[in-house]
Amino acid sequence: MAYDFDLFVIGAGSGGVRAARFAAGFGAKVAVAESRYLGGTCVNVGCVPKKLLVYGAHVADELEQAAGFGWTLEEGHFDWGTLIANKNREIERLNGIYRNLLVNSGVTLLQGHARITGANEVEVDGQRYSAEHILIATGGWPQVPDIPGKELAITSNEAFYLKDLPRRVLVVGGGYIAVEFAGILQGLGADTTLLYRGDLFLRGFDGSVRTHLKEELEKRGLNLQFNADIQRIDKLDDGSLKATLKDGRELLADCVFYATGRRPMLDNLGLENTGVELDARGFIRVDEQYQTTAPSILAIGDVIGRVQLTPVALAEGMAVARRLFKPEQYRPVDYQNIPTAVFSQPPIGTVGLTEEQALEAGHKVQIFESRFRAMKLTLTDIQEKTLMKLVVDAETDKVLGCHMVGPDAGEIIQGLGVALKAGATKLQFDETIGVHPTAAEEFVTMRTVTR
Ligand code: FAD
Ligand code: NDP
Repeated sequence: MAYDFDLFVIGAGSGGVRAARFAAGFGAKVAVAESRYLGGTCVNVGCVPKKLLVYGAHVADELEQAAGFGWTLEEGHFDWGTLIANKNREIERLNGIYRNLLVNSGVTLLQGHARITGANEVEVDGQRYSAEHILIATGGWPQVPDIPGKELAITSNEAFYLKDLPRRVLVVGGGYIAVEFAGILQGLGADTTLLYRGDLFLRGFDGSVRTHLKEELEKRGLNLQFNADIQRIDKLDDGSLKATLKDGRELLADCVFYATGRRPMLDNLGLENTGVELDARGFIRVDEQYQTTAPSILAIGDVIGRVQLTPVALAEGMAVARRLFKPEQYRPVDYQNIPTAVFSQPPIGTVGLTEEQALEAGHKVQIFESRFRAMKLTLTDIQEKTLMKLVVDAETDKVLGCHMVGPDAGEIIQGLGVALKAGATKLQFDETIGVHPTAAEEFVTMRTVTR
């Protein structure tokens, strides 16, 4: 049977665009439907605008450090409106680049909501298209717990478009987004409190990293409230918000920002017309090759809920394009040793096993840990410490994990990701010549076992 398209991709985000472009490059006839914004979450309300805001907040650090280097500055003034307008202009530029990337690679771009109407059929704005393969790459959406007053709260989607910087903010959650935005908002001048329901935020990250970041954020004056959860939110007559916690405490704020995870975006997708099944957490169930339980339908990225990171969605998109249209080049995605950064202030960079995971997996571990005040701060009064940590298998000498909290952690950890992928040993780290004077050289000069 002749189809309109070989591949119909739903969602022009990180994964969808990558799959569509490469499939078209391999000679397939490809369509992409996008209902909201080209480039998806990452470009519009995720990685990119977030990093721009992080840079904005970081300027405050530079200003604080300037005096130690002999600079006298007049008192700085920050204007949220200017930062957001400039950020918006850059995002629009990127939207245009994504459009060109798709169109120039021969992909048919359909603007509108896509709904699957059959095993090989998708409807966009009343028009039906047939396709041999359908790829669901619809991403995720912020999830706010169902508490009274939840409609008064915002999520990351709205945070990027706030008219003004709120004076007092409560950030709820203890994952990537909560920690990153607490740093952004506080860095830009908001009186910020982070509320997390457990004992210590960033569950799943290395214990030393979590504790170290907690200490550094507290030094910066961020109000961290652990074992704290909001029961209800009420709007007061003066327009401010009152959050009543489960322990009875009442906190006042101008903005309550929920960062409590993301659900798969399946709204009005028409899955009831397919044999696509969901897993126990509600994400689309796929096999190792991103095949759903319906033979003609695949899914990648945040909607399958594996690792919700842009480079992972890109890798999955590439794998699908190759598997369908260039099988001789197909390689499965390697989910081991995925490097990642949390752009907190200071940032976290991490790759490989945490100390806790290594022990749980039965490794005999040697821990190398170093805490130091970065050279740049020695001419200032700032007492921030950098943490670097290596988790090493005591029997094989293989480096199992590298963890860092400190300036440029994300930049530094990328290179170490290559070393771990190549299976580097601690001896090879030790025999690598350092780059002096940098913080990064500490990773190749840690000689004394801490534990
Ligand atoms: P998305 O990028 O979400 O794309 C899905 C697209 O599908 C969207 O454009 C959506 O409009 C469209 N769509 C949905 N349903 C339909 C439909 N029915 N019809 C047509 N179109 C539809 N990751 C990192 O690696 N580094 C970071 O620093 C980072 N920061 C982040 C910060 C924030 C605040 C957030 C929210 C996320 C961040 N992420 C980061 C995660 C990253 O953005 C996601 O993992 C990535 O965007 C997932 O790509 P995707 O292709 O699966 O989905
Ligand atoms: P995460 O899953 O990272 O964190 C969710 C947080 O909310 C956890 O601390 C969780 O607590 C808490 N939580 C969940 N449900 C509730 C609830 N009902 N009440 C109170 N707290 C709750 O999600 P995020 O929203 O922060 O980010 C989504 C994903 O996007 C991330 O996991 C990451 O993959 C990606 N991302 C990546 C970034 C990067 O690469 N720098 C930046 C931003 C996002 P608990 O731990 O107790 O379950």
